[in-house]
Amino acid sequence: MTKGTPAFGRKIGVKHIRCRRCGRVAFHVKKSKCAACGFGKTRKIRKFNWQMKNYRRLRKQQKVRPKTGKIRKDKKKKK
Ligand SMILES: [Zn+2]
Repeated sequence: MTKGTPAFGRKIGVKHIRCRRCGRVAFHVKKSKCAACGFGKTRKIRKFNWQMKNYRRLRKQQKVRPKTGKIRKDKKKKK
């Protein structure tokens, strides 16, 4: 099968929706598991050593909210 017009018939339907733990569109509807954070599969957050560079960066900045996945605005520092 080619990649063109006939193949688009297979691309109907929603596989992944927004995950309510990590916020990414990686929650598989039928499997009810998140491909990004492992929600529905494990209680721990899915992570690997090869992705620690990005993971560490996000955790250090604390910019990503665990539930929504949105970037948090910085709070004003008290002097
Ligand atoms: Zn997730």
